[in-house]
Amino acid sequence: MSIARVLVANRGEIALRVIKACRELGIESVIAVSEADRESLPARTADRAVCIGPPRSSESYLKVEAIIAAALGTKSDAVHPGYGFLAEKPELAEACEKHGVKFIGPKPDSIRQMGNKLAARALVSEYRIPVVPGSPNVGSLKEGFALAESIGFPVLLKAAAGGGGRGIKIVTEASELQRAFEMATAEAKAAFGDATLYIERYLPNARHIEVQILGDQSGNVIHVGERDCSLQRRYQKVVEEALAYSIPEQVRKKIRTAAVTAAKNIRYENAGTIEFILDQESGKFYFLEMNTRIQVEHPVTEMITGVDLVQEQISIANGQRLSYKQSDIRFSGHAIECRITAESPRDGFRPSPGVITEWHPPEGEGIRVDSHCFEGYFVPPFYDSLLAKLITHGADRHEAMKRMGEALESFRVNGIATTIPFLGFLLHQQDYISGKVNTRWVERKLEQFVP
Ligand code: ADP
Ligand code: ADP
Ligand code: MG
Repeated sequence: MSIARVLVANRGEIALRVIKACRELGIESVIAVSEADRESLPARTADRAVCIGPPRSSESYLKVEAIIAAALGTKSDAVHPGYGFLAEKPELAEACEKHGVKFIGPKPDSIRQMGNKLAARALVSEYRIPVVPGSPNVGSLKEGFALAESIGFPVLLKAAAGGGGRGIKIVTEASELQRAFEMATAEAKAAFGDATLYIERYLPNARHIEVQILGDQSGNVIHVGERDCSLQRRYQKVVEEALAYSIPEQVRKKIRTAAVTAAKNIRYENAGTIEFILDQESGKFYFLEMNTRIQVEHPVTEMITGVDLVQEQISIANGQRLSYKQSDIRFSGHAIECRITAESPRDGFRPSPGVITEWHPPEGEGIRVDSHCFEGYFVPPFYDSLLAKLITHGADRHEAMKRMGEALESFRVNGIATTIPFLGFLLHQQDYISGKVNTRWVERKLEQFVP
């Protein structure tokens, strides 16, 4: 039976993005909202909205039973989880299977395999894909000392179940290990309910490069190019681009091949992203993790390929074969995305919820804005601070950058603080323009922005 109605189990811009894809496919959308989101743009845009609980995510967006009840109650045939929330919880995918509702994402086993970074590292190593030199799980602080010494400082302590940059701590010397170990343990337990930690060698001059993958139920797997997401703050992406720039062509090819190899071997279905870190000192790249969902930064890939990744996710879940062969995927120009959040960069990125009194996003050729915001919208304090993704496309990186600079300049937001001024500052830096960046670059620039 084919999908006629999708329950959107998310909020914000990604909920709107999924609703739009459904509409274009002639599919009805129902959105599950918390009490805080009853009046949101996704709630008004979907064909129907159902309330699943109080504002706190733990009592609404993170409740598998509430999502399933909403799907069954509205006779939805499928659930789209977006990103974050339950997207990478195998429990939702399993519950969907159990109740005969299609999960628009990979099989629960794939989510589980890749959800634990230690298990994922072990698995891809079997396919001869290099992983960052690192340890098995760190059983105790004492073990941690021995493991860190053998890998060599600086190291990163990472939560095996981690995501969203949480549970990652840098340890530059042995004297810092105890404190980092305690903090990472507490953070991992609180955020992921799993305190398992491991250690990776820290690569101080590296680029984050990730490959977009699509796989269908017949075993076809293709890549849709790679993205560079090296501009990060606190291990979280700030600016993303497609394709990756100023890297050797040979490396680009090898990274794509590694990603397709991994996805084929695990019989991956639906959209997924395989993340790598490229060490600019040695030129070597290593597998970091796989995200078994749509990514925040998927629009840059869409802009340079014309592939609608969310529509493709839905048709894959519907049992259809991929709409593209590898040779159909052509790359045209360059795209950049800036994540605009409700935070004040000059105050340590303090969250700034509140009413948006003015909202004038830029328009024009090569500009795309994915956002759920509008004038008069109250940005609730309960959720992720993402307000909008500003994406520009150009014939080449130079043109995409120029358009981004102008678009940021003309983006008018009032009532709350946003990261727009900081993004504008970053994009005017010569290092950025000439592609000489690494994953620490944004934090160094932040020190100049806020002396
Ligand atoms: P992407 O790789 O798509 O850019 P991020 O890592 O920035 O994704 O995470 C996407 C969103 O999901 C963010 O809002 C982040 O806070 C949230 N997120 C990611 N992983 C987790 C997780 N394991 N648990 C809870 N939230 C997560
Ligand atoms: P998450 O699941 O939170 O996204 P990742 O393993 O993907 O965690 O790491 C997040 C970011 O942290 C990476 O994009 C990269 O910038 C940085 N990072 C991760 N591992 C390393 C490493 N071994 N050396 C240097 N930077 C790293
Ligand atoms: Mg990651």
